[in-house]
Amino acid sequence: MGKFALQKTDSVKLYKIRKILDELSQKTGRGTELISLYIPNGKQLHEVITNLREEQGTADNIKSDLTRTHVVDSLSKVLQRLKLYKKTPERGLVIFCGALPPEGGGPLGSEVVKVYEIDPPKDLKTFLYRCDDHFHVDILKDMLKDENLIGFLAIDAKDAGWGLLHGDKIEVLKETGSGVAGKHRQGGQSAKRFQKLREMELTYFYNRVAHISKEYFIDIYPIKGLIISGPGPTKEDFINGNYLEYRLQNMIIDTIDASYSGSEGIREAFAKSMEILSDFRMVEEKKIIEDLFKHINTNTGLAAYGLKEIINFLKNNVAKLIIITDDTNLHRIEIKCKKCQNSREDFSERPQLIPKKTEMLNSPCPNCKSTDSVASTQDIVDYLALLASKTGTKIEVVSGKAEHGMMLSSIGKMGAILRYNPNQ
Ligand SMILES: [Zn+2]
Repeated sequence: MGKFALQKTDSVKLYKIRKILDELSQKTGRGTELISLYIPNGKQLHEVITNLREEQGTADNIKSDLTRTHVVDSLSKVLQRLKLYKKTPERGLVIFCGALPPEGGGPLGSEVVKVYEIDPPKDLKTFLYRCDDHFHVDILKDMLKDENLIGFLAIDAKDAGWGLLHGDKIEVLKETGSGVAGKHRQGGQSAKRFQKLREMELTYFYNRVAHISKEYFIDIYPIKGLIISGPGPTKEDFINGNYLEYRLQNMIIDTIDASYSGSEGIREAFAKSMEILSDFRMVEEKKIIEDLFKHINTNTGLAAYGLKEIINFLKNNVAKLIIITDDTNLHRIEIKCKKCQNSREDFSERPQLIPKKTEMLNSPCPNCKSTDSVASTQDIVDYLALLASKTGTKIEVVSGKAEHGMMLSSIGKMGAILRYNPNQ
């Protein structure tokens, strides 16, 4: 049985990684020159550094001058970055590096070497070095697929099995017989007495199943959801009898009618549960958004929406939770006066970003009238996350395409739950 590193879902971090991967997936090199490097925790950095130096030596044989320069420069840049680490980070490290054309395109030779460092969302297991005409992003993409542990229980009156889903891997944890007599009594026993004995045995079995479930799914592998399967009505009797610890009882996502119980039943239920599970994060998101709208609709004073209001509440440590869709496309523009350091900000969607920035740069500083300013831009989620990190505010990035995400879109794609009613 494998060991799992349990990590909490961090939707902001996943959003950022997704953005980078989307960007990198679209990049192609002029030649075989884009570097992908995956370093698992167990790998010594000095070994990797030695490897890369050897690669640099081999790169001298590349025929095209431009490609050779790009590869050598990229490898130097990766080496520089690696030297900043004392040891391999806890979950490993992923670096992508390559010479990429400037934004908006450019002539041959105008490429700039860019490097992307990613702290993987969970333990990286594989070492990979590739120099190719594209970036190898699949390992990270796979890591993004799963964020939750889901428990499986396959039960009928004969036996029970426990399983765990982590990513797209199912693991059978345990199987046990029930010891409960079959439905048909042997000769010489009264029907009534047989029935009573059988019920006692079942109750004993259910309690044992509940106990083992708690051990596995609360103590050892804290799950986020539980699927209960099995043939016949046993699973319903078990659920309706409230044998499970209340936390697990509340985590039941669904039941599945199946032909088997025990370990065979776990595999069967897993195969049948794919659709339920794809909706699971969706269910979580839906709850969060429904909570927001409950506050809005009943005027509790504990909800806010509107970008400027939310930022204001965030800066003043009034916001407890920020909810934002993953498709706002919003960016923050900051203009800083070089003369007096006065700073101005505004927000813009991607298509208007550059004209807006130019317009702001061209208007004089409201403080000293200087027109000598610098501009910087950042993704809205990055900016909110930066503010939130100072106040301990949580941020949830939710899917904008799902039904509940569209609800959020109706109030500007973001909302906040507040720590207290600011108007009281
Ligand atoms: Zn100024």
